[in-house]
Amino acid sequence: MPVTNARNGSAELFARASAVTPGGVNSPVRAFGSVGGTPVFMASGSGAYLTDVDGNRYVDLVCSWGPMILGHAHPAVVSAVQHAAQLGTSFGAVTAAETELAEEIIARTAVERVRLVNSGTEATMSALRLARGYTGRRLVVKFAGCYHGHVDALLVAAGSGVATLGLPDSPGVTGAAAADTLVLPYNDAEAVRQAFAERGTEIACVITEACPANMGVVPPASGFNELLSALCGEYGALLIMDEVLTGFRVTRSGWYGREGVAGDLVTFGKVMGGGLPAAAFGGRAEIMNRLAPAGPVYQAGTLSGNPLATAAGLATLRECTDEVYGRVDQAAAAVTKLTADALTSAGVRFRLQQAGSLFTFFLGVTDPVRDFSGARSQSAAAYAAFFHAMLDGGVYLPPSPYEAWFLSAAHDDEAISRIADALEGAASAAASALG
Ligand SMILES: *Cc1c(COP(=O)(O)O)cnc(C)c1O
Repeated sequence: MPVTNARNGSAELFARASAVTPGGVNSPVRAFGSVGGTPVFMASGSGAYLTDVDGNRYVDLVCSWGPMILGHAHPAVVSAVQHAAQLGTSFGAVTAAETELAEEIIARTAVERVRLVNSGTEATMSALRLARGYTGRRLVVKFAGCYHGHVDALLVAAGSGVATLGLPDSPGVTGAAAADTLVLPYNDAEAVRQAFAERGTEIACVITEACPANMGVVPPASGFNELLSALCGEYGALLIMDEVLTGFRVTRSGWYGREGVAGDLVTFGKVMGGGLPAAAFGGRAEIMNRLAPAGPVYQAGTLSGNPLATAAGLATLRECTDEVYGRVDQAAAAVTKLTADALTSAGVRFRLQQAGSLFTFFLGVTDPVRDFSGARSQSAAAYAAFFHAMLDGGVYLPPSPYEAWFLSAAHDDEAISRIADALEGAASAAASALG
């Protein structure tokens, strides 16, 4: 039984938005392209819940695609932002909070120097330029299904919204921008060895999601990240570990806290901005000091290290204690068990893949998903049916099967029991769609 009411307000707002904004959204993953229907317009968030413009309440399993690890409108974050706003929203001059945020990132990871930027895309774009400037080489190795933001050179066989839309790459990315990008299948050690054997002295960097979660969660095979690090070291290339999604989410130190493979450069975003636009890249001092004004590789930003974003990020990281990570892990364990049980009793074939508190249910698949082609073998129709039944049952899932589900420390027993209620109908809906 649906627990939500009609979404007429969302329908009206979507019609208005579509008249002034391409596709009615400001980022493609917000559209319901792969699940069908009308995007839900949100009015407010509190803890584990979102409320839409029609007054329907949802348990939120998107968490702004990662940043809201403390839940929505966490009092410490709200008051830090309010305090910062009263002191002025932007100066275009240096502030102490930027140093504090950099110190916090350095204390949790292996990076020695940090540069703050405004989005994950800016972080990967800048890391790429720095890697090329540092090595004096052109080629970039990336993996199919890994998403690194909408950087031209990286928008080749990318996951996330690109996978959802089914675009192999994007018009507007020139042949020249893509020509210097080598795309390899993920988790394919032999393909990486061969690429280095053939073109190793031309490779500036390998960029990889520390643990991919933008084709659904596809963890690195044991030893894969170590191999990337070793080959980069051997050939004088840099390893860029993209931790925009995993950073400060899967552990207090990100995926680095699980595997201990340090990138030469590391990109961060999402959690470190606490829901405001902040991101960063960092690495060894010797590499990072090639950046302007210390060095010749140019990189800049009017709003980089913005006082509100820095305040939200600092407040979030300071609240992210071991206890918080414990609560997020517990919530993830509860939700994966409930979902697996519901799908099993409804007779739905699925493959659950997990990386800490991040997880994906690939519906209609039973073999391990090791790469993008494995992820593509899932049933999009089954996920669409499952998604809509969950939405009607008051649970807001990622509107795409190529994503992780995100939890927060605010997902308590009540939120989890609402998810359990919604799962009953949703599992049957997925079963009918699979046939
Ligand atoms: C979200 C994401 C990005 C891009 O970050 P934006 O802030 O959306 O530009 C880059 N890399 C990974 C791994 C991401 O998940």
